[in-house]
Amino acid sequence: MAAISMRNIVKRYSDGYQAVDDISLDIADGEFVILVGPSGCGKSTLLRMIVGLEDITSGDMLIGGERVNKKAPRDRNLAMVFQNYALYPHLSVFENIAFPLRLKHTPDAEVKAQVMEAAELLQLTEHLDRKPANLSGGQRQRVAMGRAIVRKADAFLFDEPLSNLDAKLRGQMRTEISRMQQRLGTTTVYVTHDQTEAMTLGDRIAVLRKGVLQQVGSAHQLYEEP
Ligand code: ADP
Ligand code: ADP
Repeated sequence: MAAISMRNIVKRYSDGYQAVDDISLDIADGEFVILVGPSGCGKSTLLRMIVGLEDITSGDMLIGGERVNKKAPRDRNLAMVFQNYALYPHLSVFENIAFPLRLKHTPDAEVKAQVMEAAELLQLTEHLDRKPANLSGGQRQRVAMGRAIVRKADAFLFDEPLSNLDAKLRGQMRTEISRMQQRLGTTTVYVTHDQTEAMTLGDRIAVLRKGVLQQVGSAHQLYEEP
């Protein structure tokens, strides 16, 4: 059974603009899929429909085999990481990562264990007492990823997570994200307009153009000479 299954998904905005045009795509359990394409091709819209932040005009969205068209984001058990981090400025790194667990009233000892485990994986152990304002862009991005990890979500959804970082940091974070995916094996959908990210991360690449899914395949299948 696919972890995420999109069936004939269409999105027409209230102004009549059709941003997503009949997309069908199955994402396997544990698979890392990249959605790539130029700005405005509908990547973000599609990701937001998976998470439930955007209504689907027609078609079906299934998560773990269950139709979720009408389900609120909080009932979907997915973790989204945005490019602007969305961290809480007044909370420490520790409490930013712990936030989803605090919402669930997880016991302190377990909060600590889970935050430490995520911090170790993301090399944040030395920064747990700091505030987001005192971190680099790459560290902030790792905190956002830490928060996604402790939620133990069924899937991670990334929306251009590295686009605010400089080239060197982007390279480091690509390595970091690959490592996290290998260690955790969580189903991941990752939106980018960056060809390098598309080719170096991920099991499969889905190429979008003007709301249409043009090609799906491995980096090898899509970019190598036949
Ligand atoms: P509604 O369906 O409630 O009328 P829309 O879906 O049209 O609202 O718009 C939601 C938000 O997206 C608004 O804040 C609007 O400013 C923004 N928005 C509208 N048009 C565009 C666009 N072409 N690209 C990006 N954002 C847009
Ligand atoms: P991408 O993530 O690939 O850059 P988006 O999914 O953000 O593309 O947007 C796809 C298209 O839908 C764009 O043409 C954008 O202007 C339009 N769009 C996005 N949000 C809205 C909205 N709320 N209302 C109307 N049009 C929108």
